[in-house]
Amino acid sequence: MLITIAQEAPPSTRAAVLAAALKRGFPAHSMANGRGGEVIGIAGTLPIEHMELDGISRVLAIHKPFMMASLEARDRSVVMVGDVAIGGGSPVLMAGPCSIESIDDQIEIARAVRAAGANILRGGAFKPRSSPYSFQGLGLEGLKALAAAREATGLPVVTEVMEPEQVELVSEYADMLQIGSRNMANFPLLKRVGKTNVPVLLKRGFAATQEEFLMSAEYIMAGGNTSVVLCERGIRAFDAAFRFTLDLNVVPSIKELSHLPIIVDPSHGCGKRSLVARMAMAGLAAGADGLMLEVHVDPDRALSDGYQTITPAELGRIHRRGMALIEALDGFDKVDDLAPGFAAMSQLSSLDDVVLELERIA
Ligand code: PEP
Ligand code: MN
Repeated sequence: MLITIAQEAPPSTRAAVLAAALKRGFPAHSMANGRGGEVIGIAGTLPIEHMELDGISRVLAIHKPFMMASLEARDRSVVMVGDVAIGGGSPVLMAGPCSIESIDDQIEIARAVRAAGANILRGGAFKPRSSPYSFQGLGLEGLKALAAAREATGLPVVTEVMEPEQVELVSEYADMLQIGSRNMANFPLLKRVGKTNVPVLLKRGFAATQEEFLMSAEYIMAGGNTSVVLCERGIRAFDAAFRFTLDLNVVPSIKELSHLPIIVDPSHGCGKRSLVARMAMAGLAAGADGLMLEVHVDPDRALSDGYQTITPAELGRIHRRGMALIEALDGFDKVDDLAPGFAAMSQLSSLDDVVLELERIA
């Protein structure tokens, strides 16, 4: 159940709710509700007297299974990565190579992507490769190169962590921990990153349903880490023409279900360099809170995923046109903010009146 405690509630209310959950052996997790108060998610149902305590503003006994991640739980979350806000209205641009290749290359790419408008630097040090004979990443050396690139540019960095045992080490270097598609259902890993206070970028498993995706976010949040950003990166469909198929349905759909920010990775989502820019625009138009893009100064020389990697110049184009697109779509979800004619139309009851109004606006 979800219990919301208002800002002005006495501390005894919170203590009583948590004690009641503990007594019954129900795990309980709390987070800010975005309005100065707090929401407590309890894996069980408390008796009625605990719901009538002073300062309890809302009780939801029936809710989604991903209770902490659900939109029912709280206002929309803004996740901070360094000083970059994700979900705060302005789209975030995460960019960099698939794999970190050397300190010098990482710094060069970092400077180029920053100039092109990126505000978070990416790069994999531990790489989940389909073949054990492919480049597996530089490991610790890669993490150090990433930190050097952060130092050189001021960009916060995101990098993948593949095993629970790596979480401590990667957290020392990363501003955001990436959970890759292949590890979306690695529950020990999700539990482990849930115990950190480092923001997490959770990529959707390429064969995972929307609900499984949100349940994986719930694993992280249930561990106590509520700074989770989702990433749609393509699912496996039947058409072998594409490495993966970007499932943009989930972007507006997850906005209806969850308060967590969601970004789109069109690089892995289509697997083809020439398609990335258009699909990036499509991701923003779908309502994504940002993009993750694979970028290299010389994509054909990239040690992994070069075929889906774009240049800094292409990133600059995506940034500039993407910002213009966001501005054009500003207020799209709010009927009241629409052009006056369209807003008035929602008040019209007869189809003839609507047609007349449409003809007038056209
Ligand atoms: C990556 O971001 O380089 C990566 C391996 O992504 P995914 O887990 O989505 O395949
Ligand atoms: Mn990659």
